[in-house]
Amino acid sequence: MSIYLPSLKIRVLLLGGTTQASAIARELAAAGVDAVFSYAGATAQPLPQPLPQRLGGFGGAQGLAQYLWAEKITHVIDCTHPFAAQMQDNARAACAIVAQQNSGKPPAVALLRVQRAPWQAQQGDYWISVPDMAAAARALPTAPTRVFAAIGRKLLGTFAAICPQHWFLLRWVGGANEDGENYLKNIGLNNYHILSLSLPLSELQASKLPISDFDKEITLLRQHRVQWLVSKNAGGAARAKLDAARALGLPVVMVERPTVQVAPPPCFTQTQDWRQALPWVLGKT
Ligand code: NAP
Repeated sequence: MSIYLPSLKIRVLLLGGTTQASAIARELAAAGVDAVFSYAGATAQPLPQPLPQRLGGFGGAQGLAQYLWAEKITHVIDCTHPFAAQMQDNARAACAIVAQQNSGKPPAVALLRVQRAPWQAQQGDYWISVPDMAAAARALPTAPTRVFAAIGRKLLGTFAAICPQHWFLLRWVGGANEDGENYLKNIGLNNYHILSLSLPLSELQASKLPISDFDKEITLLRQHRVQWLVSKNAGGAARAKLDAARALGLPVVMVERPTVQVAPPPCFTQTQDWRQALPWVLGKT
């Protein structure tokens, strides 16, 4: 099959799941850009967006390439989380497939990767930098320790397998519920307390999220007598927990970002600033 995008009319696919993607969606909608917002479907009630939405995977890079062609997408903005490495690879590969099948017949699909800057350790921080969750689990002390595992749910099984002797403070959207408890039981994590990460729908600005409040994070760490923190180097406003750890003299195991495997496609741009997305779409960068 030959993939050719006959129309020059701009149509954007925005790969979301981050605060920055929601901010880009608002700008695209306000500018009247024809765009679709895509969620992986990981959370039960994704935040409503001011753009038409689709939910769920595309079926790998080939599936995404088909989607780009079928939907006449001209621009892909990949604003997925820095740890969503598979989706980043798929976006690169899919745009490369379209470019290859389209050779000599412009336009190819252009890809913009928007990824906020990683956190940097400051004076007074005690961070142990590790490449993945298994290394994070091994970096913790061997004696039973009270650990704030601020890493979401997906990779907690690694801690259950490597260091089940610890007590874990956990935090995710929705907090403790039957589904979460069953998940932890299945992976074999028994010693924990779950907190709810409530993202207020009306307060989309990252600066107003509860996880960006230094005083609240200090209170939390004290209240639960946390001794060690494990964090992904996600970047962004959720840095308050790291500042709180520094203030309390707590060590942090920092899991660095996964490496993207696929080479960038021909029409590729990347930025740390989500505000660059609309000018990029409009060809004003
Ligand atoms: P991932 O491992 O990179 O992707 C796994 C699969 O999920 C992809 O291959 C793709 O399925 C599908 N997918 C991911 N993002 C998608 C999107 N925006 N639209 C449609 N399909 C998508 O991703 P992940 O780490 O599981 O993250 C899933 C979602 O949660 C992402 O949207 C990400 O931005 C968000 N998120 C992730 C983290 C994190 O720490 N990983 C934190 C906060 C938010 P197909 O191959 O079938 O297309």
